[in-house]
Amino acid sequence: MSNVLEIHSNSPEDTQRIGEVLGRAFAPGDVVVLDGDLGAGKTTFTQGVARGMGIDDLVTSPTFVVAREMPVGTSGIRLTHVDAYRISSLHEWDDLDLDVETGAMVIEWGERVVPALPEDQLEIRIVGDDHARTLTIAAHGPRSARLLAALEGYR
Ligand code: ADP
Ligand code: MG
Repeated sequence: MSNVLEIHSNSPEDTQRIGEVLGRAFAPGDVVVLDGDLGAGKTTFTQGVARGMGIDDLVTSPTFVVAREMPVGTSGIRLTHVDAYRISSLHEWDDLDLDVETGAMVIEWGERVVPALPEDQLEIRIVGDDHARTLTIAAHGPRSARLLAALEGYR
């Protein structure tokens, strides 16, 4: 099994469905780093993740609040949705004092805070234009490899 996977999406709904598969597979302590330009589809993807975790609340971009703890859905796991765009130092990250152990975390612009995160993170980069997107997904340890394996089932 490779530790890198590419999935193509042709619509926002496709991207949400991919996120949904991931959300269903989440276990406490899972960390996902999402990167890609503004408008790539990071928040759209996270909406699918929340749906997969049985969270009914609307997922919006946490750009101005930086981190939002979502209400616990049917998965029983808390999703913390982070937008690291405005974080300029690892000190700021530490000050947020987020719990990476008991919940699951999706971090938009996560590249900025990678040194502060567990090494075993699932890394997802979204690129594309018009309505086509390519998601390049990489696992960095056994925990994230399990998530990658769940996504291999997506078609
Ligand atoms: P980001 O959080 O990366 O800045 P958003 O998810 O907020 O991006 O916005 C993505 C935009 O691109 C939305 O307006 C969405 O409708 C549009 N879009 C078009 N095609 C896709 C696709 N295949 N996947 C995700 N979003 C898409
Ligand atoms: Mg966003």
